[in-house]
Amino acid sequence: MAGVQVRWESPVAAIGGKEAGKIKKATGIETVGDLLGVFPRRYVRKGSLSELDDLNEGDLLTMVGEVVSSVQKPYQDRRTHRTAYRLEVRVRAEDGSLTMTYFDRQKHTADWRAKQMPQGAVGLFVGRLKWFNGAWQLTNPESRMYGDQADDAFARMPDLIPIYPAVAGINPWNLENAIAMALDLVEDVPDVLPPSVREAEDLVTIGHALRGIHRPDNWGQKVKAADRLKYDEAFVTQTLLARRRAAIEATVANPRPGRSGGLLDRFDERLPFALTDGQREIGDEIATELGQGHPMHRLLQGEVGSGKTVVALRAMLQVIDSGGQAALLAPTEVLAQQHHRSIVAMLGDLAEGGFLGGAEGATRVALLTGSLNAASRRTALAEAAGGEAGIVIGTHALLEERVQFAELGLVVVDEQHRFGVEQRAALSGKAGAPPHVLVMTATPIPRTVAMTVFGDLDTSTLTELPAGRGDVQTTVVPAARQDWLDRAWQRIREEVGQGRQAYVVCSRIDLDEGDDTGRAPLRSVEETAVELTEGQLSGLRVEMLHGRMAPEDKDRVMQSFAAGEVDVLVSTTVIEVGVDVPNATVMVILDADRFGVSQLHQLRGRIGRGGHSGLCLLVTAVDPGSTSMERLTAVASTRDGFELSRIDLEQRREGNVLGIEQSGGRSSLKLLSVLRDEDVIERARAAATQHLATDPDLSASPALAEATRRLEDSEQAEYLEMT
Ligand code: ADP
Ligand code: MG
Repeated sequence: MAGVQVRWESPVAAIGGKEAGKIKKATGIETVGDLLGVFPRRYVRKGSLSELDDLNEGDLLTMVGEVVSSVQKPYQDRRTHRTAYRLEVRVRAEDGSLTMTYFDRQKHTADWRAKQMPQGAVGLFVGRLKWFNGAWQLTNPESRMYGDQADDAFARMPDLIPIYPAVAGINPWNLENAIAMALDLVEDVPDVLPPSVREAEDLVTIGHALRGIHRPDNWGQKVKAADRLKYDEAFVTQTLLARRRAAIEATVANPRPGRSGGLLDRFDERLPFALTDGQREIGDEIATELGQGHPMHRLLQGEVGSGKTVVALRAMLQVIDSGGQAALLAPTEVLAQQHHRSIVAMLGDLAEGGFLGGAEGATRVALLTGSLNAASRRTALAEAAGGEAGIVIGTHALLEERVQFAELGLVVVDEQHRFGVEQRAALSGKAGAPPHVLVMTATPIPRTVAMTVFGDLDTSTLTELPAGRGDVQTTVVPAARQDWLDRAWQRIREEVGQGRQAYVVCSRIDLDEGDDTGRAPLRSVEETAVELTEGQLSGLRVEMLHGRMAPEDKDRVMQSFAAGEVDVLVSTTVIEVGVDVPNATVMVILDADRFGVSQLHQLRGRIGRGGHSGLCLLVTAVDPGSTSMERLTAVASTRDGFELSRIDLEQRREGNVLGIEQSGGRSSLKLLSVLRDEDVIERARAAATQHLATDPDLSASPALAEATRRLEDSEQAEYLEMT
């Protein structure tokens, strides 16, 4: 390899080694730098069997030790009736011994293996614990041998052995070797941190950090390395976000201060309820920002049912009062239609501009969805383009090219997590000058997540629910308990008897055949609706709602449910976000374990919206001790959306540490936890903002500029996965 320079941006192949091609294929890792960004999952100390007391069958154990005996035993395989081979290798570590058992079908592989592990050889063994014949053993552990120079091998072996994430198709030792080689050969490690920041934060250099994370001499080095790399992640993220904020502030927008005696004032006068303190405060904040000369970019988060729509509507009216139009983007057809109905209803004659009986100075509310007939669409398009419609509500259809506005001043995006930044931008692009943007979400986001993911948005949070909301009691119901289920349907009958309504939620639309793992078939909307109509709920007015129905059918069902003409709505999660029927008080969620924590919380938010108490039943067949059951119990135990969203994120993260495939070799947040590293994120945010003041276009910080560019490429995909 003489003369070959290995640089950070060199392809992995530059380090040589037979596995480079495979690594690239299995992980998507392209460059030497990416490879060095694969961090060990954990570290093992050599020769530690003391853990055994705390371990259970099936746990992963790593040990380093010397082979004290190695015996090959042929036996008769019960299934194939052929001779197979068992190799029993007794390995001694400083604090005890353990037997490794390997099974081989072929004589030559068995012999090859036996030769690898002669008496006196020293090796590292990683495998699953098994209790067999009264003793622990590792079955078919992965092993790496260090030759027969026991003392020498021990001496050469680091105290902390890095264990890298498992990648299908790659021998872990080869991955480790490739990383070690890259670490030795790479010449130009980019440093994203300005020296002044590194010093102020008392962090190790990037060279030390890389060495310390991959090949620490001791635990202290590893901790310092992780601290530095974690800070880097936070700093790059916060730099990107600070640049976005700066760009927004430098942008000129039309101020929309509203005017007294306009639509907003008249709307406020006729509002049938008093605004909550939160609605009023956030409303004032928004009102001020709309009046400024640069665009508002605000995230409004609030518990389900906290009344975000009114806040948004008031902002829209202020913009209309200043000669602008507002667009409201909703994630589903059902939701767009509901918004349209309820906003038109709330506005009354204020929305009848140009009609007989409309109030003076009134505006219009247009609806634009994919399912409109040609004539209605033409009208809506004309009203948007001509400016007659002060408010245009729609789904993705709003983003289409032919949709034009006379003077778009405010973009409101409801339930943000369904839309990406590009879609926000597509809509904003329809305005002459950059519009103000209000993003609403009912999926509460922990503060640091908001700071990281939505760091370019200012955040407002509606914490209180309007007064007079009923309580919602949530109970987990084991599917096997027919008596409990009977009682659930009975409860629906009782509620309907008192004039209330109910939801039954299924995870499937049509029949599920089950699968060959023996899993019970999932309940579907179609069969459940029929069963209930003919059985437990006979005599009640039961309707179905799901995504495969024609849009006009969906709207008809939703409308009659809202009007109280349907008692029980059997549906999929199309009702998950935003659906607002205050008279609904019971929800039965079948196969509740099929839904995520936040999703269940959203679903449950559909009941208890009026003054009546609600009841939510989570029906499940999962085992009492399982993690699925833990999730359901968590949902049943609290209605605090922030708490639940935390639980949800933590579980998703856990699911993510299993391998690098999922997070992609380039994942931007590897060590930083948006849930636990609040202080790091805050410090990095301050430092990044300060640094940008001295180097606004990052021309003096090329490594940082490159890292933010990469982050920008990857972040969207990542966030969408996370939510
Ligand atoms: P979400 O925040 O989940 O989108 P909505 O905006 O749909 O909640 O509001 C839920 C219900 O509460 C609606 O029927 C709305 O009219 C009502 N509402 C909103 N604000 C208040 C308030 N201050 N007092 C009483 N009811 C309110
Ligand atoms: Mg809503």
